[in-house]
Amino acid sequence: ATPVAIMAGTGRAAREGIIFKSPEALEILGRADVIAFDKTGTLTTGSVSVVAKESLDENVPLNIAYLYAASIEGKSSHPIARAFYSPSAALIEVEDYCFEKGLGVSGSIGGKKYYVGNEKLLSKLGISLTADVVYQIESYVNGGSSVVYLADESHAVAYFVLSDPLKKDSYSLISDFKKSQIKTMMLTGDAENTAEQIATKLGISDYSSRLLPEDKLNIIKELQNQGKKVIMVGDGINDSASLSQADVGVGLKGSMDIALSSCDVILLKERLTDIYNAFLISRATMRNIR
Ligand code: ADP
Ligand code: MG
Repeated sequence: ATPVAIMAGTGRAAREGIIFKSPEALEILGRADVIAFDKTGTLTTGSVSVVAKESLDENVPLNIAYLYAASIEGKSSHPIARAFYSPSAALIEVEDYCFEKGLGVSGSIGGKKYYVGNEKLLSKLGISLTADVVYQIESYVNGGSSVVYLADESHAVAYFVLSDPLKKDSYSLISDFKKSQIKTMMLTGDAENTAEQIATKLGISDYSSRLLPEDKLNIIKELQNQGKKVIMVGDGINDSASLSQADVGVGLKGSMDIALSSCDVILLKERLTDIYNAFLISRATMRNIR
């Protein structure tokens, strides 16, 4: 009866737009101990917008700083880069564009090198923020927003506050898994304060911030070494290694192809709550088998 039950479960899931790529994924999902989520584009919409901006250099007016940042971001396809995009903007030429993994992006304008990225990038450059700037951005960060900076090699030129709204069903999804005694985690490349605010808002028990793709991977491996079965939910190139490593990788249609190809379960309706439905279908299927 086992293969029949699996087929029935797979079929029932498919009718709800939940695609299990293998019978193993259906078997394991309902037995998971931990579910780990990427933040940007997974728990949040990934529709990032710039909600506040300020020049930090009296010699560089804000509109010039914004133009520099937008021109460098114009080379990137990250959700953060899209926040700087405007169809009417006339961008300026950027040479030697570079993606700074886990940090941001960089490029030369008029022969001078500029960076756009997070606080970790600033510390890499040896740049520290004044108490005044820290004070200015505090309320935004406490609300769960992220901040990126335009910097040259020696100082911060401007800051941009980015807002990325939570998906409307993130909270209920986390609650459902908690009620089922599954440990919830958030793994993000974003700054510590922003991660803390989002995790608190959603009631996520455990989170890690400032992560590189290999850090996400290692956290999954570590959980598995402790004997835990891990579900990973992600959407980007930075999640693909951890999606493959997880016992079950889950992706929503509309995610990057490289992420989806690393997943064992794909949610065609792009509804976050279908992760919990998939979990329930797996449990019901395995109950029939035993
Ligand atoms: P995540 O989706 O978990 O936030 P990423 O690996 O995509 O992780 O990015 C990690 C961090 O690096 C981001 O939170 C952001 O602070 C910074 N970053 C990445 N890409 C850009 C970019 N194009 N512009 C500015 N900052 C970026
Ligand atoms: Mg993401």
